[in-house]
Amino acid sequence: MTRDSRYDVLFEPVQIGPVTAKNRFYQVPHCTGLGWLRPRMVAALRGIKAEGGWGVVCTEFCSIHPASDDLPHPYASLWDQGDIKAHSIMTELVHEHDSLAGAELWVGGSRSANLFTNEVAMDVASMPNAAGIPYQTRAMDKADIRELRRWHKNAALRAKAAGFDIVYVYATHHYLLSHFLSARTNTRTDEYGGSLENRVRLVRELIEETKDAVGDTCAVAVRFSADAGIGADGNPLVAEQRDMLEMLAELPDLWDININDYSQEMGVSRFVKEGSLEAHMSYVKSITSKPVVTVGRFTSPDTMVSQINRGIVDFIGAARPSIADPFLPKKIEEGRIDEIRECIGCNICYTGDSIGTPIRCTQNPTISEEWRRGWHPENIAPKGSDSTVLVVGAGPAGLEATRALGRRGYHVLLAEAEQTLGGRVTRESALPGLGEWVRVRNYRVHAIQSMPNVDVYLDNRMQAEDVLAIEADHIVIATGARWQADGRGLFNQTPLTELGPSNQVFTPDDIMAGRLPAGPALIYDDDHYYMGSVIAEHLRARDIPVTLVTPKTMVSAWGNHTSEQALIHRRMLEAGVELITAYGLSAFNGETAQIECIYSGNRKSIDVEAVVTVTMRSPDDILFRELQQRIESGVEHSPASLSRIGDCEAPSIIAGAVFAGHRYARELDTEVDPDNRIKYDRVFFESN
Ligand code: ADP
Ligand code: SF4
Repeated sequence: MTRDSRYDVLFEPVQIGPVTAKNRFYQVPHCTGLGWLRPRMVAALRGIKAEGGWGVVCTEFCSIHPASDDLPHPYASLWDQGDIKAHSIMTELVHEHDSLAGAELWVGGSRSANLFTNEVAMDVASMPNAAGIPYQTRAMDKADIRELRRWHKNAALRAKAAGFDIVYVYATHHYLLSHFLSARTNTRTDEYGGSLENRVRLVRELIEETKDAVGDTCAVAVRFSADAGIGADGNPLVAEQRDMLEMLAELPDLWDININDYSQEMGVSRFVKEGSLEAHMSYVKSITSKPVVTVGRFTSPDTMVSQINRGIVDFIGAARPSIADPFLPKKIEEGRIDEIRECIGCNICYTGDSIGTPIRCTQNPTISEEWRRGWHPENIAPKGSDSTVLVVGAGPAGLEATRALGRRGYHVLLAEAEQTLGGRVTRESALPGLGEWVRVRNYRVHAIQSMPNVDVYLDNRMQAEDVLAIEADHIVIATGARWQADGRGLFNQTPLTELGPSNQVFTPDDIMAGRLPAGPALIYDDDHYYMGSVIAEHLRARDIPVTLVTPKTMVSAWGNHTSEQALIHRRMLEAGVELITAYGLSAFNGETAQIECIYSGNRKSIDVEAVVTVTMRSPDDILFRELQQRIESGVEHSPASLSRIGDCEAPSIIAGAVFAGHRYARELDTEVDPDNRIKYDRVFFESN
């Protein structure tokens, strides 16, 4: 297939100072939870993006000196010769595909407490650590500023030695340089504080010095915010940012523009839609002749073309769309748009950085596994036998297993009890704001539809005898899980003895099936992710009064890791949900709920007609266990293997189910060493 000529503009080369990007697809710097800790894993991850057609592929934030470390968030580093060697693995892989490699030089300031290196953190002034770690920064004196400039220049030289083509000056996201720019944080009275010109001075010096150091072969990019937050009138504060951009407009070779509010810039799809930064970008291109890139969770090539043709940007910047589908550019180029695995905007990828673990993705189960498991997002080994595989259950686990097994060439039978495919994804995507999640189902169903070796049986609730009667060589059970209605969870470790009557107790499964409380409801959220708040929103949209009670000290506490907790809290307030934190549920008698303070044990009563428990789920594994028993007791035509995957094995997030399905398909008919299932990446280079 060839590409649609409407998309030609996306494949035009663009010059960035001394280098030229082969097209307009630009993977902006994004964290991976790998950084300097996992050099081979991160290099392979970036190399795959280049293979998938991204014209520019950048690192994550890359520390210039041990005076700025960000553990437990695994940043990259360019501190020494060892780092040069580590990064050169990435740049070589990126260059193999004629793409450009970019390094985002970074200094943390008050966002980093330097808990790894134990160096005193420095910032424009003495200020508290932004993450709430009880450390303050030292106010930088002139000597510190001179040192910083030297470190930055040396790191730029190391970036060049590592083979990078683009070197960043990183002046946003509340890190050190943005604090020099901001009138709120820059309280200095010397030539680096006060007037606009003074506040811009350090960034200007760093751009000039980086250009002097490496500008002969490397482009110098600046990451900069189009606004300085939201003003009292509710509008973005752009005036000063605009003036600063004007002052620096022609200095760098490229502007990488984002906005002050990170939870909007990389907002979850529940609250923020594709192309959301466009309003902020309106003035940027009119100020500079240099190429401009921004992000917007772009997955639609039509939107991308529109952004270019209307002069909003020169490059289509992407972090998440490139994680969900590293081959997005290739698929557009080859006219395979319907094969794009669109990001669903859930931000599970961001939790890697947030909690310091390798990046994972709901849509792309191969991310982080490129090196250690040898998984490629598009390629998979042909089948290892002529076996037939029966998959029972078409949620994300069963669908992904079917898709990947089908790609390997197995004959796959997929049986689903319901009349629609998708399992929990179909149900949950009908809840407020979660519509884009249906992409998890749609991508897989679309792929399966064109596979002649896959047979799908809807409306087929399988019993053990039905399963065995098929005589499949391999049976994989992916029957999911159900929310529990007994109050058991993290807080109450045993079921509540007083919880009823049962027709007044609900679970998310009931609500999603359309069984709703008749009057005021208490939602008991001991799950701490999105579900409690989404159910609250759903009930409020039907005018049902809602009190949300959680034993954590904040609503949807785990949403902090997906950068949505504050947005959820705000939405709860807007929707008129009463919020009670740090209380667990103790009892409900149909008229009154008893809740208990997690600290004092003091009880409170709340008059409600219904309780919705959002606590934990029980695996729907009856079918698996029955089959296991029958096979163990010896049945005719026993299958070669019986497995269970996804929520039916252990309930988790959708990404966990997709991963389980993919892994099952990859590993069928392969030898997996039970003691060494993954290659173990670790820092292995000598430092000098
Ligand atoms: P996961 O997240 O692990 O994929 P889901 O709960 O999303 O799990 O999906 C499980 C699917 O299995 C649901 O669509 C459900 O209808 C289906 N299912 C459950 N039991 C059976 C059964 N006995 N036969 C066929 N399908 C089943
Ligand atoms: Fe998109 Fe979710 Fe994957 Fe992140 S984890 S890239 S938000 S689908």
